[in-house]
Amino acid sequence: MDVDTFREGMDVMEDLIGSRSKEQDIYMYCTGGIRCSVAGSYLRNKGYQRVKMLKGGVTAYGHYVQLQNKPSLFRGKNFTFDGRRGERVTDDVLSFCHQCGAPCDSMTNCINTRCHLLFILCEQCRAKTRTCSQMCQDTVDGKVQWTAEYDYHRQIRPPPLKQAV
Ligand SMILES: [Zn+2]
Ligand SMILES: [Zn+2]
Repeated sequence: MDVDTFREGMDVMEDLIGSRSKEQDIYMYCTGGIRCSVAGSYLRNKGYQRVKMLKGGVTAYGHYVQLQNKPSLFRGKNFTFDGRRGERVTDDVLSFCHQCGAPCDSMTNCINTRCHLLFILCEQCRAKTRTCSQMCQDTVDGKVQWTAEYDYHRQIRPPPLKQAV
């Protein structure tokens, strides 16, 4: 789901389910299985009896396919909420650097401490900057005073850094 918070995800889930029959199978998965157990019990409480969840999430599934040497139905990198910021499941790279658009799936934390956005940044761009936007770069360089209130939603997917082509 293209959402920023778990709460927003619950709203999108309601839309996806819509007027579906309560007898229908519902399959769900998440990173490590925890959000699914919350969302799954929410659906069960609403009367959906056939909610099925991927036990241990994509994390456990990724380990399973690698150990069993099975083809993976999950492609690419599974984001993890720890210092690694991701665990590779397959070699597919499905996302792009937010600065230059090159295929990339490595997350970086914007070094502007007032921002801290997690965003995708390739090695080449990372050599030039570790900020998510021109505004953050100017703040880090001391060119501007950061006055914006912290707002995660405003910070998400900012306009890319202007770079000489
Ligand atoms: Zn790049
Ligand atoms: Zn930033």
